[in-house]
Amino acid sequence: MSISHRSPFGEGMGVKPMNNVFVYCEIEGITVQEVSQELLTKGRKLANELGVELHAIAAGTGIKGKVEDQILPYGVDKLFVFDGEGLFPYTSAPHTDILVNLFKEEKPQICLMGATVIGRDLGPRVSSSLTSGLTADCTQLEIGDYDDKKAGKHYENLLYQIRPAFGGNIVATIVNPDHRPQMATVRSGVMQKAIYDGKAKEEVVYPDVTKYVPEIDYVVKVIDRHVEAAQNNLKGAPIVVAGGYGVGSKEGFDLLFKLAKELHGEVGASRAAVDAGWVDHDRQIGQTGVTVHPKVYIACGISGQIQHIAGMQDSGIIISINNDPDAPINAIADYVINGTVEEVVPKLIKYYKQNSK
Ligand SMILES: Cc1cc2nc3c(=O)[nH]c(=O)nc-3n(C[C@H](O)[C@H](O)[C@H](O)COP(=O)(O)OP(=O)(O)OC[C@H]3O[C@@H](n4cnc5c(N)ncnc54)[C@H](O)[C@@H]3O)c2cc1C
Repeated sequence: MSISHRSPFGEGMGVKPMNNVFVYCEIEGITVQEVSQELLTKGRKLANELGVELHAIAAGTGIKGKVEDQILPYGVDKLFVFDGEGLFPYTSAPHTDILVNLFKEEKPQICLMGATVIGRDLGPRVSSSLTSGLTADCTQLEIGDYDDKKAGKHYENLLYQIRPAFGGNIVATIVNPDHRPQMATVRSGVMQKAIYDGKAKEEVVYPDVTKYVPEIDYVVKVIDRHVEAAQNNLKGAPIVVAGGYGVGSKEGFDLLFKLAKELHGEVGASRAAVDAGWVDHDRQIGQTGVTVHPKVYIACGISGQIQHIAGMQDSGIIISINNDPDAPINAIADYVINGTVEEVVPKLIKYYKQNSK
């Protein structure tokens, strides 16, 4: 599948090999969000493969001197810090104009941002202003070549924007051959952050915000904000006990909470269990839920549909408890316990308690 629009950077300019990889860093107050650091790590890898630089953008109020240390260690060659009144809390117009006007100057080949409330607002605005195209909610990003058989054209080093499509029935690789930047959003937790152990230039610039943002952009003012804190630590939990439709009831989930407490883990769920009302939506794991990377993932009564697997397949050890020996999740599990949740989970709790005394 390819997206086809007129290039904002003129014929041929968009595919110059020296155009860099950009990551838009989301800032809450003076704190860089984890999803941005995850994308910086991914962006660094892509930039290395392409032989270009990794650039980052931060925009906020009172962030100068506060965010640099949270961004540069991820292998950033150049950081643009836009610091000015009215840039925090986020509103659409100023942030969009910062990116659009900066990209007109810098002509990046790739731009990544979080598939967050902000990224979902900002990404489409920037991409439609630049007529560049955007792939939302990517689960993998890679560099590769593409042959357009119809046009008889060969493209090198495109961004493969990989994500489930058509209701999750296929995993699509989407390319944007002719238009720049190639834009993608990625959910929090899908990529993993790591401090860069190579050498990056770590240059920081503080552009004059007024050159990028017209006064009219500040017409929307945020008067009050209510930010709900996360109710659980599912994303960071080393052990996840996840329940599916096979758990059978809300009471069945009480058992899983008991097991999770013993193991110092968190409870996750499949969408079927969430839809049944047995557990809160913020515990849903998968394509339309949270992505987790625990050391141990215990799947209780989960069949293992592709949309669920998308959110847990990078777990260290996967244990499946299922009464169907042919459940698809068993194919990716390290250990399979063939039995019912009601029978197996109480035994796990009992023997864990006995053995950890
Ligand atoms: C666009 C889209 C997005 C989606 N996003 C997500 C998502 O983010 N996350 C997600 O999870 N799903 C998602 N889904 C839904 C997904 O396709 C599946 O329907 C869902 O994952 C199934 O949940 P499940 O495995 O719990 O239920 P089922 O598929 O019904 O599986 C239940 C399993 O429990 C086993 N079982 C039954 N009784 C017992 C018992 N007593 N003890 C032990 N095992 C038992 C059965 O053998 C079976 O394997 C999405 C679907 C679409 C179309």
